[in-house]
Amino acid sequence: MKIICIGRNYLDHVKEMSSPLPQDPVFFLKPDTALVKNNKPFYYPHFSAEIHYETEIIFKICKVGKNIQEKFAHRYFEEIGLGIDFTARDLQRKCIEKGLPWEISKGFDNSAPVSKFIKKDKFSDLQNISFRLDINGKSVQMGNTKDMIFTFPRLISHVSQFITLQTGDIFFTGTPVGVGPVKISDQLRAYIKDELMLDFRIK
Ligand code: MG
Repeated sequence: MKIICIGRNYLDHVKEMSSPLPQDPVFFLKPDTALVKNNKPFYYPHFSAEIHYETEIIFKICKVGKNIQEKFAHRYFEEIGLGIDFTARDLQRKCIEKGLPWEISKGFDNSAPVSKFIKKDKFSDLQNISFRLDINGKSVQMGNTKDMIFTFPRLISHVSQFITLQTGDIFFTGTPVGVGPVKISDQLRAYIKDELMLDFRIK
């Protein structure tokens, strides 16, 4: 499986990163070795001094497809969840300055903790789902999928023009405003609405 991450999908986050507004979805990949499941701890990597959380709604691809039209895209995912797109911001900044790919800042081992998945039909409107991250009991990032620049179907349609989607692939749909650093011993709890989805520690 592969992890497809959307960048710059919330206007206020685009502004906070001083990035240009995208005309089409921007995406990058993480390898399957980035996955962390079952609330296992995140071990702070030695190669960065500035690991940031990015809290994101995720969804799982349920059948193979390519060149998927937007109007049929809803058939390709059934479940959503929550993930953290951990980013080595210091390394990313250096990559951007040099015009290099971002992989070392985004695709490193354990950079993608994911929650359990919930059937999407539990939600009356997928483009109106609130979510948040608390660190040590304090809310640090809040978002709502209504603020996404590109909807779930648009993301599926766009990415599948270039890359075949396969069963089990996971999309990270972008982070809202409010990214920030984590440090060793932090307790991260992330929620969809008021349901606890992720609960793990930085070690
Ligand atoms: Mg992200």
